[in-house]
Amino acid sequence: MDLPRLSFGNVIDGKLQPSAITVTATDPRTQEPLWPIPAASERDLNLAVTAAGTAFQKWSKVSIQERQKAVHGLVKVLEDNREMVGHIVSRETGKSHFMGDLEVEHSLGFLRFNASQDLPDEVVFEDDTVQISTTYVPLGVVGAICPWNFPLILATAKIAAALVTGNCIIVKPSPFTPYSIMKFAELATDILPPGVFQVLNGSNEIGASMTCHPNIQKISFTGSTKTGKIIMKSCAGTLKRITLELGGNDASIVLPDVDVDSVATEVAAGCFFNSGQMCVATKRVYVHERIYDPFLRKFLEAVRALPFTQDPGVPTVLGPVQNKLQYGIVQNIIQDCKQNNYKFALGGSDIQSGQFIAPCVVDNPPDDSLVVQEEQFGPIIPLLKWSSEDELLRRANNTKSGLGACVWAKDLREAKRIGSQIHAGSVWLNSFEKPHPYGYLAGHKESGVGGEWGKQGLLSYCDAQTFHAYKGSKIIKSRH
Ligand code: NAD
Repeated sequence: MDLPRLSFGNVIDGKLQPSAITVTATDPRTQEPLWPIPAASERDLNLAVTAAGTAFQKWSKVSIQERQKAVHGLVKVLEDNREMVGHIVSRETGKSHFMGDLEVEHSLGFLRFNASQDLPDEVVFEDDTVQISTTYVPLGVVGAICPWNFPLILATAKIAAALVTGNCIIVKPSPFTPYSIMKFAELATDILPPGVFQVLNGSNEIGASMTCHPNIQKISFTGSTKTGKIIMKSCAGTLKRITLELGGNDASIVLPDVDVDSVATEVAAGCFFNSGQMCVATKRVYVHERIYDPFLRKFLEAVRALPFTQDPGVPTVLGPVQNKLQYGIVQNIIQDCKQNNYKFALGGSDIQSGQFIAPCVVDNPPDDSLVVQEEQFGPIIPLLKWSSEDELLRRANNTKSGLGACVWAKDLREAKRIGSQIHAGSVWLNSFEKPHPYGYLAGHKESGVGGEWGKQGLLSYCDAQTFHAYKGSKIIKSRH
């Protein structure tokens, strides 16, 4: 596949900066190198932090209306370049063009949402003598460390929230998918003052340096739980604010009174969207034993109907596993299922090429199997039978993760009653997991610390300042 002629640079202090070292990421479809890009050095990081610190002095004092206008400017620039950016997303992630375009569309949704937000002062108490109010003040320089599965959406959501609240932001994308966000930052130099939004293509080590940098005030991290724990430890040294959006093992729970045909099709979409490489993808499906067999039949039919092809022009939610590391994790889970003779209702043989793995469905494996216990983050899903509510809740909650869940029932109130007993930050009722800019995303248990998105997410980019304003001139006089 021809590589369109494009160039990429780190964006530091409003300019594209080259670097002594150039690297390339790999096309997940072909394993061929993509575009050369500079690798950021420690010096680049220091230059970016200094530029952000300087920019913050002015940006934090710009009115909220002006900052909203600037984020609207980012919307316009992305709309004007949506085709190019969508293509870049598709090339770096291995997604179909349809999914690349969808990622741009959802990124625009996050930019638009934040451009419409503000955080007015709140009066929390008032009487004749005193008014107590809370003001939300920006933190300073935010370091955003991002993963590879939705490189544009997850970064733009952080950028938009940070900027509208008056912070400056430095984004470090995953080394597997640096391109779309680097291009977006380059396009944004026409809109934003230098230093307000910068991007550094960097290794894990540059990420680590950000977490202990004395002049970065907050780290917003999206990635694995394992890295999240390392980051939390490192941020403690400078007592940075942190938001950790981490891994999940979402349960999708199907009650016996649902319409099997439509629900099985929807659940299949929630399992295999982006080939399962989504933080809130369904990773375990619990189906009541009374409908298990017909559900499984319809589920398999729905999965078989998803186009599985190497042609990125075919609109499909399936694609390759994005990188070799993740491919190894998914293969390990498949091998474990084979070695333990778990029943593959679909896949599991060698229908694959390169990093493409055909969807696998494992029929009722034991609860302690790897495919149930681990976050697979790929195209393999266990379907599990349940019979009583107590047993269901115990099994669904028997995980250190607490990111999301789904409950499907004829009666929405019944779905909510079950959903409220699941230990997870986001629960979808009669839908598969569909993240939304208005919905606060905050993992429970080991799926995160703090949260982002929605109105509440803006608070994670601010410190609260409380004013105790005493009325009149009752200044206490000194006795002497
Ligand atoms: P990862 O943790 O391997 O890497 C994420 C980012 O952290 C990358 O930019 C990487 O370079 C950087 N990094 C790695 N080591 C670091 C260190 N010691 N210090 C600082 N930065 C470091 O995760 P990944 O494989 O890119 O992403 C997949 C994971 O992300 C899955 O577990 C998935 O569930 C999770 N995820 C969570 C959400 C959410 O919102 N909760 C969203 C998407 C993905």
